[in-house]
Amino acid sequence: MKLPSLNIQILLGTTLGVAIGLYFNELGADHTVVKSGLYASGLVGTLFIDLLKMILIPLVLCSISVGIANLRQHQQMHRVWVSAMLFFVTTMMIAISLALIAGNYFKPGSGLQMTMFENAMQNFEAKQLPLPEFFAQFLHGLFINPFTALAQNNVLAVVMFALILGITLVMGGERFKQTRTLLEEALDVTMLIVGWIMRLAPFGIMALLIKLVAAQDVVMLGILAKFVAVVVGTTLLHGMVVLPLILYLFTRKSPLWFFRGAREALLTAFATSSSAATLPITMRCTTQHLHVKPEIAGFVLPLGATVNMDGTALYEAAAALFVANLVGIELSFVQQLVVFFIAMIAAMGAPGIPSAGMVTMVMVLQSVGLPAEAIAILLPIDRLLDTLRTTVNVEGDMVGSLVVQKLTLHNANKPAN
Ligand code: ASP
Repeated sequence: MKLPSLNIQILLGTTLGVAIGLYFNELGADHTVVKSGLYASGLVGTLFIDLLKMILIPLVLCSISVGIANLRQHQQMHRVWVSAMLFFVTTMMIAISLALIAGNYFKPGSGLQMTMFENAMQNFEAKQLPLPEFFAQFLHGLFINPFTALAQNNVLAVVMFALILGITLVMGGERFKQTRTLLEEALDVTMLIVGWIMRLAPFGIMALLIKLVAAQDVVMLGILAKFVAVVVGTTLLHGMVVLPLILYLFTRKSPLWFFRGAREALLTAFATSSSAATLPITMRCTTQHLHVKPEIAGFVLPLGATVNMDGTALYEAAAALFVANLVGIELSFVQQLVVFFIAMIAAMGAPGIPSAGMVTMVMVLQSVGLPAEAIAILLPIDRLLDTLRTTVNVEGDMVGSLVVQKLTLHNANKPAN
């Protein structure tokens, strides 16, 4: 019997995962079937994420250094770099604006009171994260011994080292030809391994979704329904309308074409809630299904996975307004402007791992004098909201690489040597 395509298998895995998760949620955590079911899904889900993380760091090192080397050779580095950064910043600004407009209009949290959440806030102490300290830490973490960075799975530091390595390879020209060939071959090898890991994706995604849906706190979701609706609505608006529109305006590619090519990566992002863990699959979809040149995808995607986070930026701003309503503070225009910029910095500084946005959100709340402890209220529903914002984060990276390719197409069409 012929198996359905991987795409169909992944869709099946997603549907089954949600359905079984809902069933488990209904049965309750103490049921024996649920216990063994969750144990098995835990094993499979963790295995899938472990495999992705295993290949992530070698992939980032090779793809960025090879990408930079190829781009610099064709003198396109500058254009790619500038257009990628412009794209990242502009789309994050749009996402935050959407959150602020929706937050001001719908005012989620205004009918609720802090005291309703006393239980959640007990035993929770938010770690202080003042902006100057955050900035100093961020800067300090950029350049570290590459072997330490590789061993510690430090994506941002590996990105920085790979950038320098790529530039050095071009500067050295013929002298470093062998190192370059080695890295190029290593990139091919890692992509082949990604292809194998992908075969596990339907099961991995199913297992992760079973665990996620089964563990949802329905009562808390009900209390925070309005906030959840505003965040989900604006995130969907950004992901389904704004980003596809930008894609269409720049490249004339239809949203249907994009979503069909991107769906494996988007579903993986949804299930894993980690842009970094999804990166190997994002690279594969973008180069193979969306036909972005490896040197552009190899540069834009790893960088995007660490700094370009539309969904996170949107969420940070929406949550700040929610907390303000909750404590009964009306944020002035200037304060909202502060939220606007700090939310962007907080999203850029958040690593692509589950719930990272919640950690950097402390900074956003503190910047306008809101109580950081209020985060405890959002923690129980964060895993659920993280699914969608991570999906939009990854979508933003993929749309970004297509737009950047279009903007640099003139030079990109020159044959590679
Ligand atoms: N989980 C998100 C990501 O990996 C980051 C966040 O928590 O917002 O993209």
